[in-house]
Amino acid sequence: MNCINHPSESAVSQCQVCGKGLCVDCTNKFSKPICPDCFSVSRQKQKRAAVTEVILTLLIGLPVGIILDLLVNDTYKTPDSFWESHFFLIYMGLGIVAGWKTLTRITPQIFLFLPVLGWLLYFVIMAVFSLFAGLIAFPIRTIRNLSLFFK
Ligand SMILES: [Zn+2]
Ligand SMILES: [Zn+2]
Repeated sequence: MNCINHPSESAVSQCQVCGKGLCVDCTNKFSKPICPDCFSVSRQKQKRAAVTEVILTLLIGLPVGIILDLLVNDTYKTPDSFWESHFFLIYMGLGIVAGWKTLTRITPQIFLFLPVLGWLLYFVIMAVFSLFAGLIAFPIRTIRNLSLFFK
């Protein structure tokens, strides 16, 4: 088998997606052996996922942040610490989507086998954990998502 890009070179590896042959240079071109066609397809998928995440962050995260802010700052007239500030609470709410995506990648999909009450409980627990995971995951995922568009 020869390289899909360089027919005179013999293939040393195969594209991980479609199995076409790749020469030494083409194998090392990207972080994993992948042909140019499959690379641009996967890049398009990543970009779409990044756009979806930004939209979900605005549609779900922003309202969650506003609700958090209303819940906390309804009882306190003025926020008296950074953790009660509008900035922090809205930031925390915005991060719920990034936190959720991070957690669902590392937790097994056990909720599929739970009864309805268990599913609800799982959902609530995941939402709370997502808020905290999002504090770290939100900036990391946002930078990674944005960098997709500037490569
Ligand atoms: Zn391929
Ligand atoms: Zn090649």
